[in-house]
Amino acid sequence: KKLEPQTTRETSFIGKMKKTGKNIVVFYGSQTGTAEEFANRLAKDAHRYGMKGMAADPEEYDMSELSRLTEVENSIAIFCMATYGEGDPTDNAQDFYDWLQEGDADFSGVKYTVFALGNKTYEHYNSMGKYVDKRLAELGARRIFDLGMGDDDGKAYHHKPVGPFDSKNPFLAAVTVNRKLNKAGDRHLMHLELDITGSKIRYESGDHVAVYPINDSVIVNRIGDLLGVDLDTVISLNNLDEESNKKHPFPCPSTYRTALTHYLDITNPPRTNVLYELAQYATEPKDQENMRKMASSSPEGKALYQSWVLDSCRNILAILEDFPSLRPPIDHLCELLPRLQARYYSIASSSKVHANSIHICAVVVEYETKTGRVNKGVATNWLKNKMPTDNGHKATVPMYIRKSQFRLPFKSTNPVIMVGPGTGIAPFMGFVQERGWLKEQGKDVGDTVLYYGCRYKKEDFLYQEELEEFEKTGVLTALNVAFSRDQAEKVYVQHLLKKNKEAVWRLVHSDNAHIYICGDARNMARDVQNAFYEIAEELGGLSRSQAVDYVKKLMTKGRYSQDVWS
Ligand code: FAD
Ligand code: NAP
Repeated sequence: KKLEPQTTRETSFIGKMKKTGKNIVVFYGSQTGTAEEFANRLAKDAHRYGMKGMAADPEEYDMSELSRLTEVENSIAIFCMATYGEGDPTDNAQDFYDWLQEGDADFSGVKYTVFALGNKTYEHYNSMGKYVDKRLAELGARRIFDLGMGDDDGKAYHHKPVGPFDSKNPFLAAVTVNRKLNKAGDRHLMHLELDITGSKIRYESGDHVAVYPINDSVIVNRIGDLLGVDLDTVISLNNLDEESNKKHPFPCPSTYRTALTHYLDITNPPRTNVLYELAQYATEPKDQENMRKMASSSPEGKALYQSWVLDSCRNILAILEDFPSLRPPIDHLCELLPRLQARYYSIASSSKVHANSIHICAVVVEYETKTGRVNKGVATNWLKNKMPTDNGHKATVPMYIRKSQFRLPFKSTNPVIMVGPGTGIAPFMGFVQERGWLKEQGKDVGDTVLYYGCRYKKEDFLYQEELEEFEKTGVLTALNVAFSRDQAEKVYVQHLLKKNKEAVWRLVHSDNAHIYICGDARNMARDVQNAFYEIAEELGGLSRSQAVDYVKKLMTKGRYSQDVWS
């Protein structure tokens, strides 16, 4: 049977593709407009991969041309097929369906993939999509991607997640909670919950969650402006180095915008090798000289790099702004910049209590540099704006889990001493939840002691209500909080440890307590460790070197663990 197009418009989609330079055609079987909308979006998205797409209504085109798709170079046919009623095709796909059933076309060489739209609660779930997928293969077409099963019951239009998830294949977790933790003050401390339902991801208290952020569009656009490039140009960056095991430094084809937004680190101060390579493009001799100097190993050059780049927190944008004659070709810049890295967060929940969600406790990084610019942390500022629903769409975060050694004692009867000021509280929220859960299971749980510290009781006492509740119910046997700025002299967690030294020593020396420290690596962790040395000296009658050995032994036995960052 020959298909009879019902309009007088151009009925040859092959002709249209050739004329307009398209190589992807996205057909839709749509009744209510959803599949059509998906098709339009897919067709538009094609340019991100260096392709050109068009959406097409099968009712308007001569579908018998499908076997001739191979005439278009590098072409793909995508089918977004909704199922209607009792497993029926949509009206606009009825003829196509009949023709597929009756016909014996030869689709050899035609590359295709199908995305089915339907609702799982119906008996004939996605039957139209399944049929088209199966039938095209029977007629010789080549399936280049597995059938996607859209389900608007779970509101999950995305393809089913396939684990295991890791740095190369992160899971897109929906943000279900994003709330500010501090009650006052200039800073923004936040609690986020990421939904991992259906992902099969497992985690333990103490693990880290890695998050892939994206760069601020303001910085990306400004780089594009300064270098005078159209950021939406499609590019493919190839490694010329034959030894390199990767063909491209980041997934290609891409666009400058995608590369600068998703793949490249544009906010950390560039390393000296980057300055050295870029120097050749500075047309002002003074600029060129300064850049070369900073990249050199002379004491003068090192000092200049330290003060002008590092201490002044100049990122690549600030460098382009402050060396107005430096206008490198964007290709070379993209080649030189390092990859944007995932950020780690100590998981602030227990999988025993929250099997399907991962909690994060983080402080938004924002500071003024010596040049008067305001620098914003990439991941934390991006997370801050991830509200659970954004214009009806779920906000998602690409993430994976990194296992750690930071673990509760194997025996729940062992006491634990947790020291975590500021955001260092994060893993201990998981630990405390887990100890509470163990208690509920009827387990004997040893002392659970927390040393927490913050600036002001009324401002940044994170999780105050939760912690006080844990104390009330006896899950926390002691909640010690050091408020550093509520009085003239500083009170820190280590001061409280020292104040309670007898109880601390008894737990450690007699009761086999496990000690955990989390948070600032620069000062806090060292100062707290010194406090433990002093307690061992005073109450154990040890010399300083014996005290140091004592703590070292605890570490090798896994009874003194740190989860710290700077
Ligand atoms: P970035 O864009 O990476 O900027 C941060 C950088 O800015 C810093 O490295 C520093 O160079 C610079 N900077 C920051 N402040 C200043 C300043 N005042 N002056 C000058 N320069 C400055 N963070 C949490 O909040 N909660 C956690 O639970 C947590 N857990 C972690 C666990 C591990 C194992 C590790 C390694 C890190 C953890 N971090 C945690 C830190 C976290 O990974 C990020 O580093 C942090 O959130 C900042 O990321 P960002 O992308 O927002 O900032
Ligand atoms: P915070 O709120 O700044 O500090 C928590 C508490 O710790 C405050 O009461 C603080 O007191 C106190 N404190 C300061 N120095 C201490 C010390 N040597 N020993 C014990 N307590 C001390 O903490 P945060 O914002 O959660 O950050 C914790 C640390 O992690 C920061 O200091 C920072 O270095 C690091 N951090 C780094 C990044 C990053 O971008 N790389 C991101 C987040 C955190 P005072 O402030 O009153 O002295």
